[in-house]
Amino acid sequence: MSSSPADLFHLIGQPARTAILQALLEQRRDAEDPTLSFTDLRRAAGISDNGRFNYHLGELVGLLVVRTDDRYRLSGFGFHLIAPLAGGAYDLDADPAPLSVPGECHDCGAALTVRPDEGVLQVVCDDGHVINHGLIGYPGVVNDRDPDDAATALALLSTTMTELGVEGVCPLCHGHTDGEFVTDPDGGYAYLAPCADCGNQFATTAGGCVASHPAVVSLFDDHGVDVRRRAPWTLPFRQLGAETVIAEDPLQLELRVGINLDESLTVTLARDGSVTSLDRSAANN
Ligand SMILES: [Zn+2]
Ligand SMILES: [Zn+2]
Repeated sequence: MSSSPADLFHLIGQPARTAILQALLEQRRDAEDPTLSFTDLRRAAGISDNGRFNYHLGELVGLLVVRTDDRYRLSGFGFHLIAPLAGGAYDLDADPAPLSVPGECHDCGAALTVRPDEGVLQVVCDDGHVINHGLIGYPGVVNDRDPDDAATALALLSTTMTELGVEGVCPLCHGHTDGEFVTDPDGGYAYLAPCADCGNQFATTAGGCVASHPAVVSLFDDHGVDVRRRAPWTLPFRQLGAETVIAEDPLQLELRVGINLDESLTVTLARDGSVTSLDRSAANN
């Protein structure tokens, strides 16, 4: 039984063991019965040597594999550990084709595509401006989807991860984030919430802080728009600098949401990102 991250990496860091875990993942995915017998598992993992297979399987049983009545299945932890493999998370050779997404670059107006950068997907413009910094998904989120579906999946993933980060949950490690608004070098206020556990520099805008707020979601919903499925870079209220500073000390930011609809929502935010007031009214422009 592993007791530390180093032990865990050692435990899975052998092709035979990865093949066993992969075979059990496929069994769990494709068959009604997620378990395999010793012989069927050995065959599915493609290991011909009985003794070698027995040794590696024995190492996995406990933490990653559960043995019941001489049949084997992934443990809950084993499944969570390797499920991202199926989405291409650790496929170092993955090279998904650049995928066009709606919207345009705020710096230069060029068209936008999703492509891998340092192994993670980013939204970049044709001139190389990065629109969405940080991890926005594993390759599985764009593989085998048509462009509209992929754009929606990315938007929902981004919205959900932003909601977690703003609510104090690191979207990467599920540890603790603690955020506040700070002035951004490009102007406006950015909401920074570093993770105390993994150091992820989670960042969003004032609009990101309220994108999943029930009042914002219902404003758009009343006009037939599911705002959580809209790419953040296409929504004016989510851009850096969309807010107005109404007080410096203590900081109060005001944001007008839904300015393209026939009514809008005015939200004020405190330095810690909390909503201090909401006012929905017909637009006067
Ligand atoms: Zn650009
Ligand atoms: Zn973290």
